[in-house]
Amino acid sequence: LKKAKQTKRFELFVSESLNRAKHRFSLETDLRHALARNELELHYQPLIDLDTGRLNGFEALARWNHQDHGYVSPLDFIPVAEESGLIVPLGRWALSEAARTIANWERELGSELPTKISVNLSAVQLLRDDVPAAVADALGSAGICGSRLTLELTESAFVDDPVGARRVLEALKGLNTHLAMDDFGTGYSNLAYLQKLPIDVLKIDRSFIADMTANSDNKAIVSTILSLASALGMKTTAEGIESAEISSALRELGCTNGQGYYFARPLNADAAYAFLKDSAVTTA
Ligand code: C2E
Ligand code: MG
Ligand code: MG
Ligand code: MG
Repeated sequence: LKKAKQTKRFELFVSESLNRAKHRFSLETDLRHALARNELELHYQPLIDLDTGRLNGFEALARWNHQDHGYVSPLDFIPVAEESGLIVPLGRWALSEAARTIANWERELGSELPTKISVNLSAVQLLRDDVPAAVADALGSAGICGSRLTLELTESAFVDDPVGARRVLEALKGLNTHLAMDDFGTGYSNLAYLQKLPIDVLKIDRSFIADMTANSDNKAIVSTILSLASALGMKTTAEGIESAEISSALRELGCTNGQGYYFARPLNADAAYAFLKDSAVTTA
């Protein structure tokens, strides 16, 4: 009986992982096609200066509306892109799409335009592609300055090859782009190392922000990250602000920028353009 039970469990395990493999395989194939047919979109979520309530930029977030399954979250397809190598063309597409969008906005509103776009770079992309060359291509074909882009990296980018990653960051700074450390506080944080990197902004992960007014541990973590950033001369962005209460708590603690559903959800390019044109927002 024991044996039969074990076998059954084993079969269950096999068929589950088979299903998972099939699912992954079809996502991978479908993602490849979606990229080739240009079916991905970038949406743009406003970043708000917490002191003035003004728009300070947008974060570009990849969106995939699958023809059979509807919306697929980047939390599902980015890992597939990373495992399959599709992150290289996807990453290049995101850079050039964001650069083209800024170029369109400059054309409409003039080059005094007070905004920029942040693009996420995956750690796998940094290992597999020549990212500074990809950024230079995107800037060159769109005809915009590097200072229009912020590149968001995660701490995981530094784990495997810290020396190589640092060289990439320096090359990106050489193109005048801004650099942000994304999801800060969730990864492997080597503070001594952080200090040596040319990072302009720390983005505080949503997991600390969401309940910080009710959870004193998270509030302590947030204020520690804010002091650290200020000691290192970096700006800060809090992600996942969903209420006026959280927004004003962060403003009081001296956080530079805020991002979250309280201000705006990620918007398609037309809605982001409308938001930009009408860009005075109240922060509570
Ligand atoms: P991220 O870079 O940390 O992006 C912020 C995520 O928080 C986004 O999720 C955004 O929609 C979500 N968010 C913002 N404000 C709120 C809020 O107030 N409440 C809640 N519940 N969520 C909020 P999204 O768009 O699902 O993206 C998830 C992750 O996928 C991103 O996290 C990023 O790591 C990755 N990703 C998205 N687009 C790209 C891309 O083009 N390239 C790469 N490499 N990664 C991407
Ligand atoms: Mg990000
Ligand atoms: Mg983030
Ligand atoms: Mg995050």
